[in-house]
Amino acid sequence: MDRRTFLEAVAFTPLVLSGCDSKARSAAASAQEVEAMRRDWKALLAPGADVTLSTLPLQRSEAEWQKILSPARFEVLREEGTERAFTSPLDKEKRPGVHACAGCGLPLFTSRMKYDSGTGWPSFITHIPGHLGTKQDYKLVLPRTEYHCIRCGGHQGHVFDDGPPPTHERWCNNGVALRFIPA
Ligand SMILES: [Zn+2]
Repeated sequence: MDRRTFLEAVAFTPLVLSGCDSKARSAAASAQEVEAMRRDWKALLAPGADVTLSTLPLQRSEAEWQKILSPARFEVLREEGTERAFTSPLDKEKRPGVHACAGCGLPLFTSRMKYDSGTGWPSFITHIPGHLGTKQDYKLVLPRTEYHCIRCGGHQGHVFDDGPPPTHERWCNNGVALRFIPA
């Protein structure tokens, strides 16, 4: 491909309207490794960590949430807001540990599931089984799949199908909706 053809190809590459599009892929795992990270996630949970392991629904009024959460957390968790890309320190967090819901403390992801998607939001190839729920979101032109904490219903982010193999999933999370607990 000569330079001119290349530039034309770049110019006509369609933009993705997801609002959370992937630019880089850095994770590679086997299907067995993914199964192991889902099954053995507690290996990365620090002893005595301040989390809850109950998935029983947690009922709180929006007024109660407003009292408990910071305005930034309330906007994302309770109003399905989206933090600005590259603003969360968790985007670059690489230590071993567990990412729990900032609303209720239910563990949602581990550091082994995390990869650098280049989008500016913490991204994961899979999640802790049974701890997230999904629904369709029609806020943008194209429908997206929203996901939330199964215990408190707090909005976490959107899941896309352009992640790395073998899952090809990209769980694109608001960092402010998570609390990281080093192992
Ligand atoms: Zn929660």
